[in-house]
Amino acid sequence: MNDSAGTPQSETTVLQSAMRGLACKCPRCGQGKLYAGFLTLAPACDRCGLDYAFIDTGDGPAIFIIMLAGAIVVGCALVVEVKYQPPFWLHAALWLPLILATTLLPLRAMKSLLIALQFHHKAAPGRLVDRAK
Ligand SMILES: [Zn+2]
Repeated sequence: MNDSAGTPQSETTVLQSAMRGLACKCPRCGQGKLYAGFLTLAPACDRCGLDYAFIDTGDGPAIFIIMLAGAIVVGCALVVEVKYQPPFWLHAALWLPLILATTLLPLRAMKSLLIALQFHHKAAPGRLVDRAK
């Protein structure tokens, strides 16, 4: 099952690209750092020199994180409320740290995963093709 056949970097599978993304490494070489800050991208790979100017994840990482974190936190809050009916201050004490943990911790990895998949599939904005030739 090689769905990347025909691409210039055909040695790289989708799984390898995804693992590079989850490790927050360069999508081409898998060695260089992707980030210069928490979510700030480096201008280029410090190992292979890949220019990161092509990267455009938009709101994608935030949307995935919002959906996952919302399901986890709301599900936990509903279970605790139905089973124990704790006071509201306990809900705040329980769910505020969980909200921070489920949103901030996976955000870097999710963003770099989407960057790696964008690089692997050569995803880019659509362009008009000149068919007059
Ligand atoms: Zn690199």
